[in-house]
Amino acid sequence: MSMTELIEVTRRYGGNPDYVLAGGGNTSLKQKGVMYVKASGTTMGEIDETGFVQMDQARLDRLWTVDYPVDQEEREERALEDLMKARLEGETARPSVETLLHCFVPFKYVVHTHPAMVNGMTCSRRGQAWAEKELGDRVLWIPVVNPGYILAKYVKDRVDERLAAGKKFPDFIMLQNHGVFTGGDTIEDVDQRYQFLMGKLEESILITPDMAEEPVDMTVSDVLKSAVQKAYGKDAGFEFMNIRQCRDWLKSPEDAALVFTALTPDHIVYMGHEPLWIPEGDDEAMTESLVQGVGAYEAKYGKKPKTLLVQNQGIVSCGVNSKEASLSGILFRDAVKVAVLSENFGGIQFMPQDKIDFINTWEVEKYRAQKSI
Ligand SMILES: [Zn+2]
Repeated sequence: MSMTELIEVTRRYGGNPDYVLAGGGNTSLKQKGVMYVKASGTTMGEIDETGFVQMDQARLDRLWTVDYPVDQEEREERALEDLMKARLEGETARPSVETLLHCFVPFKYVVHTHPAMVNGMTCSRRGQAWAEKELGDRVLWIPVVNPGYILAKYVKDRVDERLAAGKKFPDFIMLQNHGVFTGGDTIEDVDQRYQFLMGKLEESILITPDMAEEPVDMTVSDVLKSAVQKAYGKDAGFEFMNIRQCRDWLKSPEDAALVFTALTPDHIVYMGHEPLWIPEGDDEAMTESLVQGVGAYEAKYGKKPKTLLVQNQGIVSCGVNSKEASLSGILFRDAVKVAVLSENFGGIQFMPQDKIDFINTWEVEKYRAQKSI
């Protein structure tokens, strides 16, 4: 049964933190004119049949012939409406943000993930050169494009150009500062493609992050925790970590440059696009910088930070509740891995600022962030 296989492959990749974190990644199955795609905000690792939305493939195909408005907001709004209308009758869940990237891929199964190992390469200066050298015609490299209809259309146009030139559909669609799309007509094909890709990456990786966690100073932790409760409310989530790899980064904001801006859309959604720096000081001074800093951050960006870098002490992941704080911590650890792994591919390449701004204000991502907590 294909549905059973879809659930199995989704849970297996989704349950493996080397491939997918939080509500990231998605999968689909195409069968008899219907595409089953993961619903937005559901978690791959725990998915069952109800976590997929059934889409009418013929209606999805028609989306490519629509002349959407040039204005970004109007275009995305209209395309989202059409996407919702392409659901089979009775479907109420919202399909994944990335549904449009699944529907023109000719594989029966599509498995899209954000592995740290892959993103060490997609978030690096020489990632594209590496991918094209190592994977040749099997890869299609996509630069950073705003997500949504516009990204899917961009990818489809590049694919169509390749097909028109007599080339095969690429095995891997590599999205810069995001992740990888691959698939297959059987689950074995999917697994083989991932094994091949991961094997190639492993051969090129010599520098790896030191993710060991050291004990934190409990006095400092208590001070920070009560300051976080002051700034976020009494139900605030709070996690304080001291990762060995980050020790030297916490000397100054400049030393922390590797984790000071966003790597991928998921990092923006779950840990925030920019951490807040808290300078070292006595209890009172730290409390004040935290509370005031959060206020100033909110005034500037319209939201509170989810990651605080505390000079020479550690990293605070926080949020309105413990779920939000924990997701932020998970994505922060991933950002550390990606940042260090990028050194194997010519060094880090962050998302461009205008693309970060787009995600920060995009309604679709607000929905996903909201759904996760
Ligand atoms: Zn993705």
